[in-house]
Amino acid sequence: MTVITHLINGERRQPDGRTTPVFNPATGQAIRQVELASAATVQEAIAAAKAALPAWRNLPPAKRAQVLFRFKQLLEEHQEEIVQLISEEHGKTREDAAGELKRGIENVEYASAAPELLKGEYSRNAGPGIDSWSDFHAVGVVAGITPFNFPAMVPLWMYPLAIACGNTFVLKPSERDPSSTLLIASLFQQAGLPAGVLNVVNGDKEAVDALIESPDVKAISFVGSTPIAEYIYSEGTKRGKRVQALGGAKNHAVVMPDADLDNTVSALMGAAYGSCGERCMAISVAVCVGDAVADALIARMTPEINALKIGAGTECGLDMGPLVTAAHKDKVTGYVDDGVASGAKLVVDGRSLRVAGHEEGYFIGGCLFDRVTPDMRIYKEEIFGPVLCVVRVDSLERAIELINAHEYGNGTCIFTRDGEAARHFGNEIEVGMVGVNVPLPVPVAFHSFGGWKRSLFGDLHAYGPDGVRFYTRRKTITQRWPKQKAQEASQFAFPSH
Ligand code: NAD
Repeated sequence: MTVITHLINGERRQPDGRTTPVFNPATGQAIRQVELASAATVQEAIAAAKAALPAWRNLPPAKRAQVLFRFKQLLEEHQEEIVQLISEEHGKTREDAAGELKRGIENVEYASAAPELLKGEYSRNAGPGIDSWSDFHAVGVVAGITPFNFPAMVPLWMYPLAIACGNTFVLKPSERDPSSTLLIASLFQQAGLPAGVLNVVNGDKEAVDALIESPDVKAISFVGSTPIAEYIYSEGTKRGKRVQALGGAKNHAVVMPDADLDNTVSALMGAAYGSCGERCMAISVAVCVGDAVADALIARMTPEINALKIGAGTECGLDMGPLVTAAHKDKVTGYVDDGVASGAKLVVDGRSLRVAGHEEGYFIGGCLFDRVTPDMRIYKEEIFGPVLCVVRVDSLERAIELINAHEYGNGTCIFTRDGEAARHFGNEIEVGMVGVNVPLPVPVAFHSFGGWKRSLFGDLHAYGPDGVRFYTRRKTITQRWPKQKAQEASQFAFPSH
């Protein structure tokens, strides 16, 4: 069986350590092994990144951008291969995998504008005969730690921009679906990236801890679950590193009485059940304002959920694939059991779904709960599966209070035809990414991505303009060239205009 190893200093390593199986979730079969890096292997990757740093950070940004142009071209040429690997190891449909790759490529395009992004700020005559400017320097060796649910896109949120800004990088992708991530990194190498600028170490907690503990790693970008995000943020910042750690979510969609119900149903079907609910921006709660809206929404969604086309993601034309692992399937099923036990009404029960020819796969059908209340675990916790909870409220104000009281604040949206209600919602809601009649308001690459509250630890959001700030250090130079050679008097008062 193939063993997926690491990419260190431009070379694929030979396997020589601990491994863990990588499964095809549609069949339940182990299809590859992935090596789990030891702390010593991670040190080698960090050393390679450190050695590559001086030359890379001093290369003109336009030269760095040229490598990104070639990288984008290679990503497009290898799209089919990448999509196949994502779908095979994650389980998501081919169309969904192609979508994540395209959104990842958008970040490569944004990073290609490095010469523009790094131009800096200049003030002539900041004082008499004094010029002052700020320019933006690389931070150094940056580490990225990424989750299983977007093996192509989330790493592409990080290293193209970090590298375009002159940093070198060590990526630790998810050990559950590492193949597409490694292929993409190899394509960057093929595009002409010097050895050591991007290194990939596969692994688990041991590898992550080695990255956190290394004094040579100056910044960490993390995306994953909230407990690990919090751990990485506190351990990293304690050691003086910059950390941006994006965590979990519970995204609410508010459905107003005047919403266009046909389009709301279509939008919620994709947002709740696409990718089997394994998206940090998935809608997992529908907050219906008024019983009439809740009854109509449930009546319209029930047959659509029952008709979801579910199968191996590698086949074409499906709506949903399996969950990522057997353990995750047990977890999601456990939440559905818990919802029933706590008194919510299970309108659609996907727990007994069997996919012909894939009896060992980790499939679950779409589930829909009605009459969910805020004290229930299915409301409070992130399920990360195809489970939509309907909560009934009597006003928009109550919907806003509910969402603002939740510990997560990643994404939310409102379906309405009332501009005033939408504007009020956008203003008052304590969530980082807000959609108005847009169910998955994932910002485009030239904005930045991030939640509020316990969905993000750190000050700056991922990619886009915040990404440029995260991956650079500002240096401000103040300069004068006095004409006279005569000695000037010392100034003991603080200099001012
Ligand atoms: P996870 O937290 O289990 O793993 C994320 C990364 O952390 C992986 O690389 C993993 O190897 C590593 N890791 C796991 N346990 C660790 C430990 N004890 N110590 C150190 N490192 C550890 O997350 P996941 O299951 O891969 O991904 C799903 C989660 O990610 C969900 O909670 C989802 O909401 C979240 N997510 C958030 C965003 C966002 O932008 N906010 C985007 C995608 C996914």
